[in-house]
Amino acid sequence: MTGVFDWIDVSARRRDRAGLTRRMLVRPARSALVDLAGNDYLGLARHPEVTGAAAEAALVWGSGATAARLVSGTTVLHRELEEELADFCGAEAALVFSSGYLANLGMITALSRPGTLLVVDAGNHASLIDGYKLAGAQVQTVAHNSPQAVEKALADTRSARVHAVTESVFSVDGDLADLPATLEACRRHNAALLVDDAHGIGVVGERGEGAVAAAGLAGAPDVVWTLTLSKALGSQGGAVLGPRRVIDHVMNTARSFLFDTGLAPAPVAGALTALRVLRDRPDLPARTRRVAAGLHTRLREAGLTVSPPEGAVVSVLAPSAEAAVAWADACRSQGVAVSCFRPPSVPDRFSRLRLTARADLTDADVERAVEVILAARPAGG
Ligand code: PMP
Repeated sequence: MTGVFDWIDVSARRRDRAGLTRRMLVRPARSALVDLAGNDYLGLARHPEVTGAAAEAALVWGSGATAARLVSGTTVLHRELEEELADFCGAEAALVFSSGYLANLGMITALSRPGTLLVVDAGNHASLIDGYKLAGAQVQTVAHNSPQAVEKALADTRSARVHAVTESVFSVDGDLADLPATLEACRRHNAALLVDDAHGIGVVGERGEGAVAAAGLAGAPDVVWTLTLSKALGSQGGAVLGPRRVIDHVMNTARSFLFDTGLAPAPVAGALTALRVLRDRPDLPARTRRVAAGLHTRLREAGLTVSPPEGAVVSVLAPSAEAAVAWADACRSQGVAVSCFRPPSVPDRFSRLRLTARADLTDADVERAVEVILAARPAGG
């Protein structure tokens, strides 16, 4: 036996010592836990119409898409979902990918080339970061949620092709980017704005149309955005939205679209039905935001450091990575599932519990969650 992988044991020991070893929790089909860990913001993942449509699509179309989208992996369901997503969000066109992660890789790589400058928010999600790396673009990271910092970086560049890249609702802190001010800065310097609206769709805006649309930017010729079907829409998959010529270009050039088997029919039908349920139930996004605001108020009043939520994500600072893990474990043992973020998902010293609101949580669920989180609070938390 050779020791070619001995370095893995060394790195595993280092990870263990820093309290950063990951564990995989297996979720049962039904559980009595109050779930503040998942991203099913509107409670649609188990909506009977949504699951019924997914099951029927599997029976009619088969379990998989069977090929890449441009080969034979596109069904009428994919086209309907693209048309209805574009219509709901106010975009000229949309293209469905098999995940939000791949949609981000596709958007960034298709719109960049070596030499492109990407002015990126310091809090951007890993899937955007991996997009910059794959694109081989120049990257300038700017202060979190600062249109002024974006403006300064744009003013300083001489690159011919420049994009500002940001999340809308940030996945870790739950704050909302100032998209209109960032777009104004972009326009003064002839840059495009690329946005990841994964946590905005279904939650932000009067109808849950997402943060880009709610900010009035959906029809703009210089704004392109992604969303996921796996959070508020309760399914799986992702999409890129924007001007038709951009979407046609992404379809023709994004390798994470071209060389990936299409999204399976069942999640396509699930997302399409979830979108239709959302159209009929504009009260759902407001309910989710109300639950998030309630969690924030209660925990902040108890003295925790909690960022004000703009969507469903409520972020609670923990004193250390180890304390965050122990805190989340203690909550789970008391019947409340929360997730925790620690490096490398967040910078050192910014480990936290991440709570997610759902439209279908009752007041009693929220009350119970608050009690358990406070009772399990670590020293210094
Ligand atoms: N962007 C953001 C901001 C996310 O939080 C996530 C999911 N964690 C993704 C993209 C990836 O989406 P998906 O899970 O559909 O791949």
